[in-house]
Amino acid sequence: MKILVLNCGSSSVKFQLIDAKNHEALARGGVSKIGMPGALLTMDAPGKDHVKISGEILDHNIAIENILNLLVHEEFGVIKDKKEIEGIGHRIVHGGEYFSDSVIINDEVLKKIQDCIEYAPLHNPHNYKGITACKRILPGIPMVGVFDTAFHQQMPDYAYIYGIPYILYKRYGIRRYGFHGTSHYYVSRKARDLMDADIEKLNMITCHLGNGCSIAAINGGKSIDTSMGFTPLEGLLMGTRSGDLDPAIILQVMAREELTTAEAQTMLNKHSGLVGISGTSSDMRDIEERMEDGSKQAELALNVFCYRLKKYIGSYMAALGRVDALIFTGGIGENSDIVRRKTVEGLDGFGMKLDLKKNKNTRGEISEISYKDSQTKIFVIPTNEELVIAIDTAKLIN
Ligand code: ADP
Repeated sequence: MKILVLNCGSSSVKFQLIDAKNHEALARGGVSKIGMPGALLTMDAPGKDHVKISGEILDHNIAIENILNLLVHEEFGVIKDKKEIEGIGHRIVHGGEYFSDSVIINDEVLKKIQDCIEYAPLHNPHNYKGITACKRILPGIPMVGVFDTAFHQQMPDYAYIYGIPYILYKRYGIRRYGFHGTSHYYVSRKARDLMDADIEKLNMITCHLGNGCSIAAINGGKSIDTSMGFTPLEGLLMGTRSGDLDPAIILQVMAREELTTAEAQTMLNKHSGLVGISGTSSDMRDIEERMEDGSKQAELALNVFCYRLKKYIGSYMAALGRVDALIFTGGIGENSDIVRRKTVEGLDGFGMKLDLKKNKNTRGEISEISYKDSQTKIFVIPTNEELVIAIDTAKLIN
């Protein structure tokens, strides 16, 4: 059963065509710089040449049309007819309190996705555009929405309520929602498989460390707490986002620098985190390289990143009581042995014993990187959100 998985951003559409039966990715790629000069469509498929086409791609409709034309292309394509696509799975960032699971997209669901735009103005409008484009281009093909927030919807109220007047939650839905849910879900199930245990009996801490970073405490398969909040800005230090900070700072800086709300948003979302502290880059590979070259600012950025993560792990240990597995995923989690080492350093006394050699040799693959006698198993597990979306889509349209 072939499922097209789409992730529509403001100026990009990422896609994968996945056979949901055997979990195989038949093709993957994306369109970048939609509506800008130099838009680019790329695709990779097993056994085929890498495809890279540049040209003008004005909007999401044209981007998705181009992707479909490439998928059925005589030479580079992987299917003969668009009709072979049996379902479309859309990654949707915010589902508010409406969705605690994936759903078939109908008019009522579409309306709720629209309602959530006020929570995620940078993401949901583009997810919405992707859905309406597919409705037009591939009429009649069932579509499923898979929400980044859904997995965290079972958090207890004491984990998601902020210490501000409760009326603001009632009036505007201001609470912690959490994101990266599909990734936290995927790696926790993979870890369960690796441990060959009943998910109901496992406690885990999952660290998704990419450009955006979040951590989740998972009890019996359910997310009971996570670091991202009302928006993806809260929690861990990230590539360009600040993560946690004293809210009074924002008011101070806005007053002193005479910033508008939009400028303050930009500062916190685009100019903070690793790039803000290092002054040079938001990319962990650059930070590591600069640190090796002696940059004190890069070293400070990396130290803040790891220290913040360690503190969150500590707090989730307390929330869970016992931790059976600690999992690293995302570009940094999967590849940076330095980040993993600095984060877990000193936690032996809490039952987390990192095998330094295994850690050093692990890059981008599934691996158990703790010693055999470590009470908490430590895993590196590459995430696969697209596969979860394809499986959920196939399951629901069946
Ligand atoms: P996104 O959140 O956009 O999906 P990724 O999950 O691909 O991003 O993660 C991107 C981050 O992973 C970047 O900070 C990048 O530097 C980091 N990364 C990728 N490979 C390595 C590596 N070999 N060593 C350290 N960091 C890496």
